[in-house]
Amino acid sequence: MPVERTLSIIKPDATRRNITGAIVARFEEAGLRVVAQRRTQLTLAKAQQFYAVHKERAFFDDLCSFMTSGPVVVQVLEGEDAIAKNREVMGATNPANADEGTIRHDFGESVEANSVHGSDAPETAAEEIAFFFAGTEIVG
Ligand code: ADP
Ligand code: MG
Repeated sequence: MPVERTLSIIKPDATRRNITGAIVARFEEAGLRVVAQRRTQLTLAKAQQFYAVHKERAFFDDLCSFMTSGPVVVQVLEGEDAIAKNREVMGATNPANADEGTIRHDFGESVEANSVHGSDAPETAAEEIAFFFAGTEIVG
């Protein structure tokens, strides 16, 4: 299995409930390492840019408004098969469809406020990591 890096975001519903540590524990228990991390407040422009791929979707405006409704924690996770493994630990987009024991099943509030973001492929992971972090901020 290749060692990969993926971009993770702990979303505002989770920072609001003070469960960022509980979420990080899920990543670490799965063998993922936090090799960069920053708590930040997204601007609307930055949220719109990050989610630009979804700009034609009906939920785009609501999603960007939600993502700016409170602080987020942006992270780079590293490990074997990290992109797929993180998606597994996160669970399905809609918490109602997520398997028991996944972050979204256990912590997600709704399809929108689903506690975490994770990159979906090597190309998007590289782009999303560079969107938030300089190479020097990532220490594996
Ligand atoms: P994922 O985060 O699982 O990769 P998507 O890339 O499809 O899912 O969607 C990005 C984010 O947009 C989701 O994590 C969720 O916060 C939000 N979202 C997706 N679908 C909906 C929906 N039908 N209604 C509201 N928000 C949604
Ligand atoms: Mg996605």
